[in-house]
Amino acid sequence: MKRLEGKVAVVTGSNRGIGKGIAIALAKEGCRVVVNSYREDEEAKNTVEEIKKLGAEAIFIKANVTREIDVRDLIEKAVKKFGKLDIFVNNAGILVSGTVTTLTEKDWDRQMEVNLKGVFLCSKYAVQQMLKQDKGGRIINIGSIAGLVGFPGISAYCASKGGVTELAREMALDYAKHGITVNAIDPGVIVTDMTKGMMDDAATKKMLLENTPVGRFGQPEDIGNAAVFLALDESSFVTGHNLVVDGGWTAR
Ligand code: NDP
Repeated sequence: MKRLEGKVAVVTGSNRGIGKGIAIALAKEGCRVVVNSYREDEEAKNTVEEIKKLGAEAIFIKANVTREIDVRDLIEKAVKKFGKLDIFVNNAGILVSGTVTTLTEKDWDRQMEVNLKGVFLCSKYAVQQMLKQDKGGRIINIGSIAGLVGFPGISAYCASKGGVTELAREMALDYAKHGITVNAIDPGVIVTDMTKGMMDDAATKKMLLENTPVGRFGQPEDIGNAAVFLALDESSFVTGHNLVVDGGWTAR
């Protein structure tokens, strides 16, 4: 028996990158998965197809996590299709560069809207559904080591990710008695579209690798494996935790 057989998960921002890695890792354990992204494109279709090839069920639901109406619709459609919601992964995110002196107010708001307000809105409707079911649940927020230690030049991103991790701790307390665990995963440098620009610059790539003690960058499946652990029934005593998956970056 696979370890997440019978479970239903929604992973935001899962047409590509880390979200896709999480969706596939959950599906490999028998979970039925809702793939989501802002755009409905070939990548979304391909991710659903890849999951189906693993023998798991998957559908795509388009939703902008910053729009309450979309988020409500995402949960409603997921529950209509699969009958319930057990696991919700707040993964969708963007990176807006800039220091406090160079960022515009608009940049700041855009960063916070997706990375922080999106997590609030999704958690609101996901937890409401889990409370209705009265069988507990799992909320997993994808933060970043940029929410734990400073990274120059990305002030709004760092602030948003600090918020995502802290919100997991706060929510863990609010819903502990209902069997809903809320944890954060804080990834280090993972190879995705978000980090492509950094990897394309040889000096930046060298610096990032030198700061990652295990000597390699993370892959989306590294975060997927961590998400599976937090999603398991056996992890019911793990809540309010911040699981750092960074190849040792913050251990130095
Ligand atoms: P990518 O840029 O590869 O993917 C981002 C995903 O988020 C896409 O699926 C995108 O959808 C989705 N998304 C963006 N805005 C919205 C929105 N408003 N509504 C719904 N979906 C949206 O990023 P990563 O995979 O690298 O990052 C995933 C998460 O991991 C983010 O929260 C990021 O901050 C975090 N993280 C990443 C690290 C890394 O090194 N890569 C390190 C630490 C944390 P679409 O394709 O439609 O745009």
